Amino acid sequence: MSAPLGDGPPDAAPAPGEDGGVRFACPQCGGEVSVSQVQGDRCPQCGFEFKRFSPGEQRTAQDYLAVLTGEKHLVTLPEGKGFVIAHE
Ligand SMILES: [Zn+2]
Repeated sequence: MSAPLGDGPPDAAPAPGEDGGVRFACPQCGGEVSVSQVQGDRCPQCGFEFKRFSPGEQRTAQDYLAVLTGEKHLVTLPEGKGFVIAHE
């Protein structure tokens, strides 16, 4: 409780990269995107939101996909890094 800047949290965004960020082509617009968190990442071009699933969660991902409405895509990430569902 002795932070010199008391206004707001230290918003250090984790650098995307080898430690969790996975790059792939956006299934909606084809642009290169990356996900570094479980959810909340968005395509900067088309605005689709990505939800990430670990390699063991394929079934969960498919269930999630099934209940989504609107446009959606299931992406298998390279190198066995799991799955991403992109949705509007
Ligand atoms: Zn996109």
